Order: sequence, then structure tokens, then C-alpha cells
Amino acid sequence: MRAPRSARIGVFALVLLLASSAPGVRADDAAPRALVSQEVKVRRGDTLGAIAQRTGVKVTDLRRWNRGRIGKGDVIRAGDTLIVKVPADQANPDKVPARERAAADKAVADKPPAGTWEDHVRVRRGETLSKIAAKNEVALEELMRWNGLSPRSKIKAGQTLKVLRPGPRPPARSPGRPTAGTLEHGVHLGHGPGYRLRFPKNAYGVESVNKTLRACARRVKDAFPGTHDILIGDLSRPGGGRFPPHESHQSGRDADVGYYLASNEQNRTMHRVKPHEVDLAKTWALLRCHITSDKVVRVYMDRKIQIAMIDWLRKKKAVDDGRIQRLFEVEGGDEALIRHAKDHDTHFHVRFACDTQDAACEEESSDAPFAW
Ligand SMILES: [Zn+2]
Repeated sequence: MRAPRSARIGVFALVLLLASSAPGVRADDAAPRALVSQEVKVRRGDTLGAIAQRTGVKVTDLRRWNRGRIGKGDVIRAGDTLIVKVPADQANPDKVPARERAAADKAVADKPPAGTWEDHVRVRRGETLSKIAAKNEVALEELMRWNGLSPRSKIKAGQTLKVLRPGPRPPARSPGRPTAGTLEHGVHLGHGPGYRLRFPKNAYGVESVNKTLRACARRVKDAFPGTHDILIGDLSRPGGGRFPPHESHQSGRDADVGYYLASNEQNRTMHRVKPHEVDLAKTWALLRCHITSDKVVRVYMDRKIQIAMIDWLRKKKAVDDGRIQRLFEVEGGDEALIRHAKDHDTHFHVRFACDTQDAACEEESSDAPFAW
């Protein structure tokens, strides 16, 4: 799984590229299984074998990922930096190579010039850059510049390109369903108090969803002074649509949210957690904030964490039994809002309802807004 050098424009882009080759993933949604680059420092006395063992990779892979960094006869020096690739859900953003981190940050920081807004178009099979420029009534040179492309750059079907359009941004829309839909005029969640983004390239949603995510992160930050940030993972790709290995996350209404960790430890990676490793008070405060918007239609959360949360809620007398039954599948069965799904011990997944004015937006047949 070696990406061409030109495609290594950022760890987040890499995730996107490699994610499409992930093995079949069940149901609703799962944490990305893609690989991302991490830096490791060579210690005194290290050998490739020792580093491979320490980082859980193969020596042959180390050689392949580090051409030009490893000398003849596998010579490495203490203090050198090597690249290893690890599953995205075990990656530590602090160890992402600087070049990749800069590219990812730039993708978020780049604001369109005043009087324009940033649209995203999906490349269709057989389309060329000039065809796409003509179709969108923009100059080929501009299209290339906006996307950092040259006349020799290769584009492929399914790829998303940036197009700047004049005038005010039209409201975002979610035609179709979360598992078979797209996102028009999607809005980036951006940066704000109380949360951080794990995959900034895939943090596009409709404004109502973004607003709730931002407001709730801020509310928990205010309610728990000194708390670490909540880690927000994938929403949708810029133009929505298929987003393997997720089945949903197609229409800007799904968000993966890492758990607040006990002992106020910053969640950086969305690794698997046991119920006792979850800060239930903060996680419930956040989830309650989402749900009381009366716009949440589905939540996925690991069964064991549901059970721990219910115990905690009962102990605190925070929610009555009737509401617990309507909320949690482990008590109320499959009529409940919060369902168990595989791999949701790394994050919970929250899906928001269609906006009433968005006529083309459709809910999944099993989903309905939860009335608090
Ligand atoms: Zn999800």
C-alpha cells in the first residue's frame, strides 16, 4: 500500500486514499482502518529489527517507507528520524511528520477570498481538468491553482476539487440519506473552543449540525473548567458521498466523537477504551447537549459503555427510568435511540435529522428525531 509521492499531500489525504482499500466493514460505521505516517526517533544502539519490534511493523516495511533514510547494510544513526505507518485509529497526531501536518492545517486555514465561497465538485469517470473547468464556468488555470495542480497532474474519478464561486454561499443541503447521499455546499466545522479535529479534511457538515457540535463542545468546556478538548473525528468529505470504510457519513449529518477520557487525559487517537476509562460525566454532558437539540436521530455506542453510563445516570439520579429505556438499546431494545455497533468503543457516532427546509434530505428508515 504505497501511495505515489505526489499524493502524499497530507496525512489526512493519505487516510482518504488508503481508506478506500480497507476490507469490508459491517453496518453503519466503523473507525477508519487506514494507515498514517508517524515519526520515530532512532535511539542509541538501535537496529532496524529493534525499531520494527518496538513499533510492531516489519523490517521490510521499514526499509520500504524509509528509502534514502537508511544507509547501505541497514545503517541508521541515533537521533535520525524514521517513518513508520500505523493504523489511523492508533496514530498520535503529535508524531505526524511536519510536512504532512502543515498540509493538513493549510487545508483548514485557507479561507476563500472575500466575496467568494468555496464549493467542491466530485470528478466523474472520464472527466478531464478542462472539461471540469468548462462545466463549472471557470478558467482552467484558476481551477489548477485552487487545487495546487499542474497541467501534468493526474486526477481520478471520485476525487474532490475545490472551485471558488462568486457571491454569498448558498445554504448547505443533504440530498439523499446518510448512507446514500451527498453534501451540497458543505461547511467546514472549523476550529473552536472545547474541541479539536482528528481529520480536518473530512470535517464538512451542514451548518445546523456544525452549530450544535460547536455549541455543545463549548458548553462542556464551560461546565468542566480545565477540561481537555473533545476529539471530533470524521463528519463528511467536502462534497459528501461515499466515504469508505464508513457506510454513512455521506450527507454532512454524521459525526464521530471520541470519548472524554477519565483523569482528564486528552483523547488524541480514538483508541479502544474500557468503560472505566471513559469520563462518563463529561461524555454524558456532551451527548445530552446533542440529544436535547431534538435533532438527533441515531447514536451508536458500545454496549458496555452504554451499561456503564446507565449505572452512572441511575446513581446520579440524572435521568428517569422511562427516559433511560427510550434512550439506551441495552434497556429499551431496538426502539431506543442509542444502539450498539461494532467498534464504537473507540468513539460514539451521532447522526442529526434533516433540516425541515431541506426537501431533498431523507432519513434512514429506522431513524427518527428523539424528543427529549
Ligand atoms: Zn461514524
